[in-house]
This record gives sequence, C-alpha cells and structure tokens, in this order.
Amino acid sequence: MAGISPDEIGTVTAGSESKPYAVGTIARHVASFIGMGQNVFVADLEGACNSGMQGVGFIDSEIRSGRIKYGLAIGADVAQAERGDPLEYSCGAGAGAFVLGRTDLIATIEDIAPFSSLFMDFWRRDQAAVPSHFGRTTVEAYKSHVIGAIANLFRKHPDLSLSEFDAITFHQPSGYLPMKTCAALTEDKIPYVEDESIAERMRLTEQDIEKKVKPWLKVLDTGNTYAASTLISLASVFDNSKPGDQVLAVSYGSGAYSNATWFEVQDGIEDKRGRTPTVEEYVKRKTTIKIETYQDLIRARLHRIKQRLEIPRLVGDVEPVNGKSFPLSLCYGCERIYFPAREKCLDSECTGKMEVKRYPLIARLKSVSKLPLKKRFTSNFELLDQNKVLFVDAKLQDLKPGVKLEGVLRRLDYEGKDGLIMYGIAYRPVFQETLALIARPKPLIIAPTQYA
Ligand SMILES: [Zn+2]
Repeated sequence: MAGISPDEIGTVTAGSESKPYAVGTIARHVASFIGMGQNVFVADLEGACNSGMQGVGFIDSEIRSGRIKYGLAIGADVAQAERGDPLEYSCGAGAGAFVLGRTDLIATIEDIAPFSSLFMDFWRRDQAAVPSHFGRTTVEAYKSHVIGAIANLFRKHPDLSLSEFDAITFHQPSGYLPMKTCAALTEDKIPYVEDESIAERMRLTEQDIEKKVKPWLKVLDTGNTYAASTLISLASVFDNSKPGDQVLAVSYGSGAYSNATWFEVQDGIEDKRGRTPTVEEYVKRKTTIKIETYQDLIRARLHRIKQRLEIPRLVGDVEPVNGKSFPLSLCYGCERIYFPAREKCLDSECTGKMEVKRYPLIARLKSVSKLPLKKRFTSNFELLDQNKVLFVDAKLQDLKPGVKLEGVLRRLDYEGKDGLIMYGIAYRPVFQETLALIARPKPLIIAPTQYA
C-alpha cells in the first residue's frame, strides 16, 4: 500500500503485550508473511502499550543513520483482562502499522521526546494469562508520564505551543484517561511541570479539547487496543489531515513510559489517500456479538484448551482471478502446514514428503458449505490436502458463488499449549477493491533449508 517492494524494508518492529510466542518474534513472522526476504532487522518490543510507538522511534533513528531505507513499525494487541475486572469492560483488539522512509512521505517526524520512570502501575508476570494493576494508580502514572513527555518535547523546542497543533492524540486505554490529562492541561497550575515558561505553552482550552483531541478518541469504537492504540488514533488523524498540519501523538505504556511524537503532514498525503481503508471504514465493518458468544470466545482463549480446530468451519472451493499466488507447504510426515512454504520440514527427524500448494491472492468462490458435525475432527491439514479452502470473516449467507475473495493469513492449527503455531491462507470477501488491487506482494520464494 505504501507502493514499495517488501524487500526494500530493512527493519520490522512489533510492539505487543499479547505475543503468540514468548520466544519467537511477531516481527519475523510478519516479515516472512509479506515476503520481505532475509536481510531484515526484526524485533518485538517490550514497554507495554508504548511499544508500538517506540518502534516508530527506533526505525526513525535507523533511517536517519542511513542503515536502512524503509522500516515497518507495528503495534498489535488482543487486550487481556481478568473476568469481571474493571479492565475487562474496555478490552479491545487491534493493530496499527506505519511504513517509514525518507521519500514520498505523508508526514515527517519532527522530533520525539521520552519520559520514563520505574512506576509499576500495571504488569503481567511471566506465564500469567492476565495483567494485574493498582487500579487508580494508573491515573497518576498516565498523567505524569504523558505530561512529562510533552514538557520534554517543549523544552527542546521553545517555539512550540500545544494549542497551535492541529491534532493531538494520546494513548487510549479509555476515554477517561486522555480527558483527565486534558483537564489537567487546562488548569492554572499544570501538574508535574515546574518550569512556568514550558507550562504556559502546554495549556489547552475547552475548545482545543473539543476540536483537536476528542475526534481522535477511537477507543470509543475499538476498546483498549493496548500497543495498537496510539497508532490507530494517529492513522485516523492522518485519514483526516491536510498538508501542513502539525500533529502530536503521545503514547503511554505502563511501567511506565511515554513518547511524545511530533509530525508535520506533507503533500504526499493527498496521493496516498484511498490506498488503505480508513480507520472509520474498519470500524464500520463491525459485527455485533452476544455476551454468550463473547464468554465462549474468552473462555477458549484464557484456558488455551488443546483445541486444534475452529468450529464451525466454512469450507469450499475457489478459482483464481489473477496469476498472483501464495505458496504454502504440507508435510506428509508430521502433518504440519508451513507458510511461507519450506523445502524441508522444521523437524529434522521428520522424513515426510513435502508438497507445495499455491493459493490465489484474489479468488472467486465456486462452492461453500459448513463442515458437518460428524466431520468436525477433520483437521485443516486434511482439508488443504483435499484442495479445500477455509472461509473467515464472513457468514454463510455472504458467500454466494462468484463472490470475489481475498486471501488472508490465519492461524490454521496449533499444537497444544507448547507446540508451534501453524499459519496459512483463508479467504474472505474482498474488503475494499482498491486494497486488493494495490496490495500485491511479489511471489514468495521457498525458504531454503536453514540450521539454527
Ligand atoms: Zn514434518
């Protein structure tokens, strides 16, 4: 969508609190899934909800140093919370990502200022499924670090004043914390800022808050998306920006850490509009579920039951629309699915035959049915072996023969609590036509045999 080849991207960072592997990076998975090749720096970042925007900062430095040409910074999370905990009511899930580079820009990063201190307001111990927190302690931690980061930015730039920004967005665990912080910035004595000349420039009016902060409170639509939160609200700012706009994004992560990132919107924003769905379009694509369904889903997630299959599954046949395809491979020795395709099984003991299968990037639906109850133990490996595909993000009634589909990556299998997660291709109706036309990853090469 950025209009550049995946192999020009030199770094991927992924900030998350909900990593599928404790050891094993999201960043390398993404790099392989989108065909980036092997000459890539990859890192998953810690720092709670601040980690997504911290990736933006690290990649900005790598680009300025000349070490890489482009980088991809991701924040992605499925928020965790104890059942019945106040956190649970605002739980969300989401992802935001930006490609950074030197040319053809939608916005420039003018500067970034940090503020961090050891302030454990919220944490999750190793192997604990859900976080713990000191409740209202987060209000003080959040306010002091967000305000501290803005003050640090303003200390470096004596001409900046908060009310001159066109859009200001904050990390959004809820609507409450950003609003509470804004209220502090309207006070005569701004808390945590000793230097009056800086405090003076940080003051906001009620009108500023209405016009420059409230439109970007995406948490009201998405819930708390943890490390994705600031990237999503920033994307919604850019969806509505014009060249010359000054934008401030202040992220926050428990533990505690804030980055204040200052952007200036560039002319390139006009050309790139429409290349990706807007945040608003993603929000509109929602499906409402009943509380019982939510409870079933959350139970399955928290217990991490040894359930290899998603039930019910929609399976069927598709035909290619164009020549582009995803290759994946099936190992007939251990029945593992590999995406991207491999020549040889990862398990050195496994001597099974490896078969590469190709799946069209864009396809047309030929037939679909719900897997009958008596076949519910059929594995996704068996379905792929029978040349069937899986359908996701759609109800049976949305899947009429002839419907145009796009291939999307999904978890197709996982080997209990400790084993590998197997990713592969599933299909859904094309979300947005332009997206399907522009997002054309180059054909993926089969990864050569590697030894650790
Ligand atoms: Zn195998």
